[in-house]
Amino acid sequence: MSDGVWAAPGRVNLIGEHTDYNDGFVMPFALPHTTIATAARRDDGLLRLHSANAAGGTVHLRVADLAPGSPGGWSDYPAGVVWALRDAGHPVGGADIHYESTVPAGAGLSSSAALEVVTALALSDLYELGLERQCIARLCRRAENVYVGAPTGIMDQTASACCTAGHALHLDTRDLAQRQIPFDLAAHGLSLLVVDTRVQHSHSEGEYGKRRAGCEAGAAALGVDVLRDVPYAALDAALARLDDPEVRGLVRHVVTENHRVERVIAHLEAGEAEAIGPVLTEGHASLRDDFRVSCRELDLVVDSALTAGALGARMTGGGFGGSAIVLTRTPAAGAVSQAVLEEFEARSLTAPRIFSAAPAAGAKRLS
Ligand code: ADP
Ligand code: MG
Repeated sequence: MSDGVWAAPGRVNLIGEHTDYNDGFVMPFALPHTTIATAARRDDGLLRLHSANAAGGTVHLRVADLAPGSPGGWSDYPAGVVWALRDAGHPVGGADIHYESTVPAGAGLSSSAALEVVTALALSDLYELGLERQCIARLCRRAENVYVGAPTGIMDQTASACCTAGHALHLDTRDLAQRQIPFDLAAHGLSLLVVDTRVQHSHSEGEYGKRRAGCEAGAAALGVDVLRDVPYAALDAALARLDDPEVRGLVRHVVTENHRVERVIAHLEAGEAEAIGPVLTEGHASLRDDFRVSCRELDLVVDSALTAGALGARMTGGGFGGSAIVLTRTPAAGAVSQAVLEEFEARSLTAPRIFSAAPAAGAKRLS
């Protein structure tokens, strides 16, 4: 017997990459791909978790025993959410939860946040907690940081919990202020392709840590707390004060990327959706050359899509694999996809998975 059905989406980040841990701007939108939870309350303190997307059958846990550093595996994400809710003082007990997901896992599209957010929303309703969306996002991030042990920012969970259809979400990661920015692709005759390269290079975690440390070093050298505090207008003067070319590149990326987010917002609010294409492509060049987190496969997606007539393209997510996004006029979308696939095939690379995604709704109860 189930008490209800809930859904939470994956996300892609339109622009604003590697800015979140520098207190900067991000701008994700929700994918039409969701994780669906069918859930019922249990009053015996047991948590029974099952996922159609994971091997190994049903996981049984005692809610009272949940603590960071326990079992491991996929159930850490929902168990971590139950732990985070209880640790924040919310009276959550047991539940039976079954998950089914269409969010590709491990592709940089935030299947982990979808899994967390759908769990939190279901429990909020089952236990009548009335949690607000931003609170759900914060608790889910805590679950992922502390219980799962993955040092992610706040973007993924906020996107899954707070996005609205037809909009990208401008999130200021400093004060968590949100603004819904109209991004109605169909009204402009545009399509946005998500290209999952299906690769994740093994050094990505260590490199992420190095970039974070490099950004901190840059901020320290410039006498600011975080790179968010370097205004775009002061960039040249700031760069002139930095000796280390690597740190200079990191600083230049973060400052110009925050500025690109503002440029994209200005174009979208002026109804000039096509004009964001070149800004996305600039963002890719900055991640490739200054922040140095791209890889052969991501560059190949971007270069082949642009050669085939796309308006703009960039890697999205942390880098070293994962996914890229491509903005194209809708009539050209088929040819652009084909060109990307052919370039991968010509190099004997694994065929990427390509789908078109319009900004979809955030998490919600279905029944
Ligand atoms: P991403 O969030 O980019 O997809 P992560 O590594 O952060 O990648 O999260 C992927 C992990 O989340 C998977 O390896 C799995 O443990 C878990 N996960 C996500 N969705 C599901 C699901 N529907 N069922 C079971 N596990 C899932
Ligand atoms: Mg994730």
